[in-house]
Amino acid sequence: MDRFQKDRPVLETPIQYIKGVGPRRRDLFGRIGIKNAGDAIYCLPWRYEDRSAIKKISELIPEKEETIIGTISASDVVVTRRRGLKIFEMAVSDETGMMYAKWFNQPYLKKLFRNGQKVMLSGKVRFRGKGVGGRGSGVKPYTLSPIPYTLHPVPYTLLMENPGFEIIEVGEKEIQEQTPRESLHMGRIVPVYHETYGLNSRQVRHIIKEILDQFLDKIIDPLPDHITVENRLIPLKEAISNVHFPAQGTDIDLLNRGESEAHRRLAFDELFLLELGLAIKKMAASNEEKGVRFNVDGPMSERLIEKLPFKPTNAQLRVINEIRKDMASHHPMNRLIQGDVGSGKTIVAIAAMVIASENGYQAAMMAPTEILAEQHNINMKKIIDSLGIRSCLLVNGMGQKEKKETLKKIAEGEAGIIFGTHAIIQEDVRFKNLGLAVIDEQHKFGVMQRATLKKKGYNPDILIMTATPIPRTLALSLYGDLDISVIDELPPGRSPIETRLFYESKRDEAYSIIRREVAKGRQAYIVYPLIEESEKSDLMAALTMTERLKSNIFPDLSISLIHGKMKSGEKEEVMSQFKEGKIDILAATTVVEVGIDVPNATVMLIEHAERFGLAQLHQLRGRVGRGSQGSYCMLMVSYPLSEEAKKRLSVMVRSQDGFLIAEEDLKIRGPGEFFGTRQSGLPEMRVANIIRDASLLERAREEALKLIAEDPDLSSYPELAANLNKKWKERLELITIS
Ligand code: ADP
Ligand code: MG
Repeated sequence: MDRFQKDRPVLETPIQYIKGVGPRRRDLFGRIGIKNAGDAIYCLPWRYEDRSAIKKISELIPEKEETIIGTISASDVVVTRRRGLKIFEMAVSDETGMMYAKWFNQPYLKKLFRNGQKVMLSGKVRFRGKGVGGRGSGVKPYTLSPIPYTLHPVPYTLLMENPGFEIIEVGEKEIQEQTPRESLHMGRIVPVYHETYGLNSRQVRHIIKEILDQFLDKIIDPLPDHITVENRLIPLKEAISNVHFPAQGTDIDLLNRGESEAHRRLAFDELFLLELGLAIKKMAASNEEKGVRFNVDGPMSERLIEKLPFKPTNAQLRVINEIRKDMASHHPMNRLIQGDVGSGKTIVAIAAMVIASENGYQAAMMAPTEILAEQHNINMKKIIDSLGIRSCLLVNGMGQKEKKETLKKIAEGEAGIIFGTHAIIQEDVRFKNLGLAVIDEQHKFGVMQRATLKKKGYNPDILIMTATPIPRTLALSLYGDLDISVIDELPPGRSPIETRLFYESKRDEAYSIIRREVAKGRQAYIVYPLIEESEKSDLMAALTMTERLKSNIFPDLSISLIHGKMKSGEKEEVMSQFKEGKIDILAATTVVEVGIDVPNATVMLIEHAERFGLAQLHQLRGRVGRGSQGSYCMLMVSYPLSEEAKKRLSVMVRSQDGFLIAEEDLKIRGPGEFFGTRQSGLPEMRVANIIRDASLLERAREEALKLIAEDPDLSSYPELAANLNKKWKERLELITIS
């Protein structure tokens, strides 16, 4: 352990000891999470400006990004007549001419500038409207200090809108006689940092420079040389130095996209540490005290498959075999099953559970909602019973007495297969001998739950199922410690789901499609957005709408509402009636989002579809199209739609492929939003972007696995071990090497 806790004194020098940082700035830095020199070094610019060529105003070319230095001759906040926009405008001149700059909705800028001050402006040059004040622009003319237009070689004025700016303090050297300090801010590609209140980009730049001068030489590159070489990475010091102060001639677009050589190196380091941590975790798991070694050749799983009303797909059989191999080994299984909505994951899990049971161990399946747990229990009971295995259901909504009895059955081993919700992992649940734990729809659970469930058994095998089709690269980083199986085939005979957008004006048409399907003997879902089950107003809306459906719209049909606030007995009742075809239209909140399987339901109307995320819409839609009849998904939307909502919905209409949809979702929302960092356990990335750097991530993973296979405790790489420890310290005791 020692070697992982070695101090890193150099980079941990507190920020306030850096020249130019006093207690006040220390606090400002603290607010953005920068406590020491090392933090500051990794506070990367969020963009770059090419100020290597400072132009004279007379040389400016419209429509190009340019940088000038000039003196403020006039400035004011003006308010547009029509829309009341506040615009801060200034006139700036140099010895060759004058131009304007304006900033929208930032009237406070006025306080920052004084007439006579020197400023540098960087931005896209545009023509300004006709003459002073630009009559056409709606801006009231105001008086400008009269730098004669005649100095300007062309008879129009130029303008920059929302340019980047820097005030050149009095006393600072003129650009012509660049001192080293001045060259930080001008005459080069300049890093622009996020400004926090009271600390501007220029000040941050100074301080970063100070830190680099002082510490850069002391940074030790932790990457083994062969990895740096094979992956064509530049040395760490060079990367750090260039990411802040790019060398002359660096491609500014690459920099701004975060794809320069310097970024690539730093991103690799970050991804490599992540993958190294996961590799070690995986290794530790497989070295852990032995798990259960199941005999997988018993007759039970064969018998299960014979009893199924269908033939498993090849993908299902393949995944069952992968699971059997894991179960036969004495290493505890940690396997993730990915399969799109409706690909038939349940039965694959049941096959594994049956094997555990045949070996005299208990198997539990945890689902995110009571409805789903109940459905698993109902659907599977017959087949499980017929194999002579006893099963039970454990959810929090059940009566006290019943629950007590169930807990007893579980503790005494009378129940071999247990279906349930997170109730399964609560304090009061004792298993006799849990040998296999299955987590269904795992993306709906947090990371901690997996760990808790694991503790309920003696190193039980773990099977995790998710329908969120995570792109492979992401799965690697998110679940890098798991083995992954993919069910990449839908059962035969499924027909496509026709998906369409409906605006309010077409509501009647949507209803008539429902009516037509019901007339054919099919069933329908109408889904209301109720993202948080606690949202009272949403629940009210769902209730009112259901009443309207019953009394006005479909008075002749049988309609029931199901929502999360109902008692579990009631929910169970409604679901089984729907399943038996006694209910024509199931009005529902998002409790039906995952897992529900009623093949006779062929039409779904989603109200306020614009309020749902893509993943959720895809899951919801997966409730229909489960039989061989053609199905419909109608997305009812309210006008106007945001750009993002339009994108999302058009993806839904276009595609039914979960992987494609997930990829689009990721593009629209970015990885942080997509997973919700908290829930995913995905560490926050400072440099890397999992989408942009997908191929780098794969390389990092390969290298990490190779390195750990060769040197499991990183004994030849103490620097790396130290960095790793620092990075993973707070993360769920992920690293268990000693
Ligand atoms: P999911 O992967 O979404 O959990 P389910 O396990 O709920 O999917 O299966 C969806 C439906 O497909 C169920 O009705 C199930 O009985 C059925 N099913 C599963 N496998 C097959 C198969 N090989 N052939 C036909 N139907 C299948
Ligand atoms: Mg399922």
